[in-house]
Amino acid sequence: MRAIFIAVGSELLDLDRVDTNSIYVARRLREKGILTDMKVAVGDHVDNLSWIVKKACQRAQLVILSGGLGPTEDDVTREAVAAALKRKLLFREEIVAELEAVFRRRGMAMPEINARQAFVIEGAEVLANPVGTAPGLLCDEGNCKVLLLPGPPAELVPMFESVYTRHIAPAANHHVVARTFKLTGISESEADSRCADIYRRYRNPVTTILASPGLIELHLLGRSKNSDAEARRLTDELADKLRERLGEFIFAERDVSLPEVVVEGLQEKGLTLAVAESCTGGGLGDKITSVPGSSAVFLGGVIAYADALKTGILGVRAETLKRHGAVSQAAAGEMAAGVRRLCRASLGLAITGIAGPGGGDRKPVGLVHMHLSADGHEQGLRQIFTGNREIVKLRSEYSALNLVREYVSQLSADGGRQTADGKE
Ligand code: ATP
Ligand code: MG
Repeated sequence: MRAIFIAVGSELLDLDRVDTNSIYVARRLREKGILTDMKVAVGDHVDNLSWIVKKACQRAQLVILSGGLGPTEDDVTREAVAAALKRKLLFREEIVAELEAVFRRRGMAMPEINARQAFVIEGAEVLANPVGTAPGLLCDEGNCKVLLLPGPPAELVPMFESVYTRHIAPAANHHVVARTFKLTGISESEADSRCADIYRRYRNPVTTILASPGLIELHLLGRSKNSDAEARRLTDELADKLRERLGEFIFAERDVSLPEVVVEGLQEKGLTLAVAESCTGGGLGDKITSVPGSSAVFLGGVIAYADALKTGILGVRAETLKRHGAVSQAAAGEMAAGVRRLCRASLGLAITGIAGPGGGDRKPVGLVHMHLSADGHEQGLRQIFTGNREIVKLRSEYSALNLVREYVSQLSADGGRQTADGKE
């Protein structure tokens, strides 16, 4: 079964309203293996809407519309769908009576215009709206279902859920297995070039890549008409191949964030962390402290933006700044060692860089040095990140966190470093 979602409302086109209903609906459909092929936003215009509904019914088995069911002139979804399906609009007295009762309960008389909401598309099932006034409609059109839902999310959700349980989920008859890979330390294009040849070969499972600064998610969805076991086998087969190609960049195969993985790792190994930040201005500490329970492993840090703080508090040598500059591997190393000493932490993590927009030839915008200092382990990382100030900061934070993750993951459980033969 394939779905098309139509968000109705001129406000979605050029005002600052964002269509969130389609996100909710598409996610719920995906859980049953029903994929959304298209989402469109259409203004409050009968002919345009009717045209798109007609087209959608030719291509999908499920066409879901949200919005335009209200009582005002610009609410045209009922008319447009009726025209598209070549059906009449019938006036239903009992709906007027129900609407009047709703208003009476609110201590009001029903405004005349609300009677418009009592028009029903011939042959449609009327869907009760326990939250607002606009009833929804469900039409069977050949082997396509057309579902009309109200726009306000608080009204759409319960009505959609009721149709989902009664009609959509039972018809989906798919066994579905989902897998998620979360990656960092690799760009979207690099991840794609490493594995596109594999996942493109598969139509089932389908693979979706989600990229945000410093993070990539791969979502796999395997479906089977026969059994859970078959859906699992199909999904595992692709997952194993992707893991082979991307393993070193995968930090989780479940719904957790990189800071959560880092905090868990530190906790498991009984380690503490302190941070020294320049260009990220506290963003690294913010990411870590967003994780509940981070106080068990995170001691704190220093935002040393000015050189005077780098030398005065963190103990970076003036000579280092003079010779290499504040944005240098040497400075990052001394910042990490300094904050580790200052906070008496097992690990010191430092970031210094040029977030932009101003930069130079030798030190371009996006040049960031990171350093992790631990017992018997000093590791620097130099990167030139692309993106604006905000994005460079985010990428730096994730890169630095990844240094900790990689270091921690190769330690044995009691905090000792693991050697090649598994002994310490
Ligand atoms: P009403 O009776 O409230 O007029 P309606 O079905 O006619 O209901 P609209 O007038 O299209 O719905 O939208 C009402 C409000 O619902 C919008 O102002 C907006 O806040 C919200 N809304 C509409 N469509 C969406 C959408 N796709 N995603 C999120 N919110 C939406
Ligand atoms: Mg409306």
